[in-house]
Amino acid sequence: MTALSAARDLFTDLTGHESEGTWSAPGRVNLIGEHTDYNEGYVLPFAIQQRTYASAALRDDDRIRVASTFADEPVEVALSELDRLFPSNGDSRVPEWSAYVLGVAWALRADPSTGSGTRFRGVDIAIASDVPVGAGLSSSAAIEGAVASALNQLWGLDLDSVTLAQVGRRAENEAVGAPTGIMDQMASMLGRPDAATFLDCRTLETRSVPTGFTAEGLEVLVIDTQVKHSHSTGGYRERRAACEQGAELLGIRSLRDADVSDLPRAAELMDDVTFRRVRHVVTENQRVLDTVAALAERGPRAIGDLLVASHASMRDDFEISVPELDLAVETALANGAVGARMTGGGFGGAAIALIEHDAVEAVSDAVTRAFSDAGFAAPHIFTVRPSEGPRRDV
Ligand code: ADP
Ligand code: MG
Repeated sequence: MTALSAARDLFTDLTGHESEGTWSAPGRVNLIGEHTDYNEGYVLPFAIQQRTYASAALRDDDRIRVASTFADEPVEVALSELDRLFPSNGDSRVPEWSAYVLGVAWALRADPSTGSGTRFRGVDIAIASDVPVGAGLSSSAAIEGAVASALNQLWGLDLDSVTLAQVGRRAENEAVGAPTGIMDQMASMLGRPDAATFLDCRTLETRSVPTGFTAEGLEVLVIDTQVKHSHSTGGYRERRAACEQGAELLGIRSLRDADVSDLPRAAELMDDVTFRRVRHVVTENQRVLDTVAALAERGPRAIGDLLVASHASMRDDFEISVPELDLAVETALANGAVGARMTGGGFGGAAIALIEHDAVEAVSDAVTRAFSDAGFAAPHIFTVRPSEGPRRDV
C-alpha cells in the first residue's frame, strides 16, 4: 500500500468518514554544505521523492485530533489548550511525535500573518509516510510541511512556502524542543523536480538550482549506515563551540565572514584543532558556491571532486566521519561513482553517492559486500531524486 492510501485509510478508521483532502511534503537530502548552517553560511539540499502525507478534514467543534501509522494511539486536545502546551516546558504532556503536528497548528495560530479575523475550527489529521525516520532525510520537516500545507488550506490562511517553512521550524524548536536550523524545512517546502535549493543561511535568500541529474542519467544513492553514535550530541556542541571560538579569534561575527584567503592568518591565531574546524567551514562554504557554479556551467558530472573534497574535509578537519561512512564513500568511488560524501551531522547516519543510472545495482552490491567483509551491520541502500515540494494529492 502506498503512504497516500495509508493516510486516507487511517483517516477513515479514525473518523468513520472520508477526509476533505490529502496534502504531502517531501523529505530532503543535503547535496553539499555541512555544518555551515549555524555559521551563517551556504547549503545546497534537495527535496526527495519520499513524502509524508496528511489526510485531514475540519470538525464542527474546536478540537484537534491527530493519528499516525507511526503511533499506537491518536492524540486529541482542544485548540485552546495548545497555548498551554507550547512552548514546551520540557516535561512534554503530549507524546513527542504528536508535538510535530500539534506544534504546527500552534505556530500557525500564533503567526502574526494569520490575522485576528481567522476562525480556527477543529480538525482531524491522519499521517502516513514513506520517509525513513531518523536516517537524516528529515522526516521531521516532511511531517511539518504536510501538516502546515493541510492547515494552511483548511483554515483559509493562504501563507506562502517560506512562511510555512518558518512555522515548521518554530514547531520543531519550540513545541518539540529540537534546536535545529531552517535548512530542512526550506529544502522540503521549496523543492522542485530535478533541482536543488541553494540557501544562504544568513539572509535566508534561496535559489532553485537545476541539477541535471535526471537528464544526464545520474542517480543519487543513499547509503544509510544505521550507525548512531552516542557522542553525536556532545560532538555537535563541541564543533559549534570551536566555530564560535574561531570566529571570535578572527574578529568576525561568524565564519561566514571568512574566506580561504584568511586561512594563513587563522593558522597563526589558533590551536591546530580549532584551525582545522575553521578550515572545514570556510572551504565547505566555498565548495557550495563552486558546486552551484559547476552545475550551471559544466553539469552534474563536474561536481564529483567537490563532493569528494567535502568528505575529506569532514573526515580529516572536522573529524565527524566514522569508519562505516568512510567505507561507503571509498567503495562507491572505487566502483565508478562520480562523487560521494557523508551527509548530515556526522558520527553515523548516511552517505550519498552520485552514480550512473546503470550502476545502481553494482555499487549497492559492492557496498553491501564491503560492509559484510569489514564486519559492519548491513547498510540500508536506496536512491533519491530531486523532487517537488508540498502539494495537494487528493
Ligand atoms: P529525521 O532525521 O528523520 O528528521 P528527527 O529526529 O528530526 O529525524 O525526526 C524524527 C521524529 O519526527 C520521529 O521520531 C517522530 O517523532 C516524528 N515523525 C516523523 N515522521 C513521522 C510520522 N510519519 N508520524 C509521526 N511522527 C513522525
Ligand atoms: Mg529532523
